[in-house]
Amino acid sequence: MINYILEKLKALTAIPSPSGYTNNASNYVIQELKNLGFNATMTKKGCLFCDLGGEGDSLMLAAHIDTLGGMVQEIKANGRLKITRLGGLLAHNIEAENCKIITRNGKEFEGAFQINNPSVHVNGKYQEVVRDFDNMEVVIDEHVTNEKETKSLGIQVGDIVAFDPRTVVTSSGYIKSRFLDDKLSVATLLGLAKHISEEKPKLNKHLYLFIAVYEEVGHGSSSIPIEVDEFISVDMGCVGDGLSCTERQVSICVKDSSGPLNYELTSRLINTAKKNNLDYAVDVYPNYSADVDAALSGGSDFKHGLIGPGVYASHGYERSHVNGVLATFELLKNYLCN
Ligand SMILES: [Zn+2]
Repeated sequence: MINYILEKLKALTAIPSPSGYTNNASNYVIQELKNLGFNATMTKKGCLFCDLGGEGDSLMLAAHIDTLGGMVQEIKANGRLKITRLGGLLAHNIEAENCKIITRNGKEFEGAFQINNPSVHVNGKYQEVVRDFDNMEVVIDEHVTNEKETKSLGIQVGDIVAFDPRTVVTSSGYIKSRFLDDKLSVATLLGLAKHISEEKPKLNKHLYLFIAVYEEVGHGSSSIPIEVDEFISVDMGCVGDGLSCTERQVSICVKDSSGPLNYELTSRLINTAKKNNLDYAVDVYPNYSADVDAALSGGSDFKHGLIGPGVYASHGYERSHVNGVLATFELLKNYLCN
């Protein structure tokens, strides 16, 4: 199973999908679910919805396929690009990173994100430059020296800028990529769908899958197509100072910035992890508002939970581990099948 999940993670991270530009990645997931025998549909704003079967109370498992990224805000007089961020992208975190500029008519150009005047042999104030979107720019890997030449390539304001995910799986089982949040969970849920398709376990809930878009800008699951009894966001688990989770565990969140997760559902998740001897951690997330909170704010009524593999350096060059992925997979499987 882990090989399948890692293969899907690599495929998904190779498809650029910053918030607002997710259809290619979503269509990949639709096709993959179809290969597994499930019929997923797309909502008007681009979220995916799929009935995975089973009997009992309804449970929706949700992950999001949109990622951080950029959008061309201005074509500068020097021919380079000022960008605005999509989601909580931090400029210093993508310094010197390769990127793709994807035009509205589907052309792609390569480039890199640099501070203005980035040669240390030239810029005596290199160290002092504040790394933000005003002082940094996309240098396009084409022969362009002014605004007119860049525009003649077909590049326009509003084009998508997607950063190199640099997805790597080490021989020690660590998984690194810019966009483990939340493509690692999407891949894990595909793994669960594969398990259901092949093993046909008896599910004690009626299970639905929801793959949200626009999560990174705050309204991913704000509307959902049906009423459900339980809704669990499967998203990156926080790892850092003061928290107990590591990348090798599944994180069960008890409170995020929007408040406490549902007490009963969270207790059931903790008990399932305990009973099955899974490596898990229970944590409070200090700066995180899960997509499931967006669904509650949108007016839905259900019990809500939040779990996911531990992810280090979130919204940067993120790291997790196959053990954390497997613990997440097992927690979901056991919650559904016990
Ligand atoms: Zn996320």
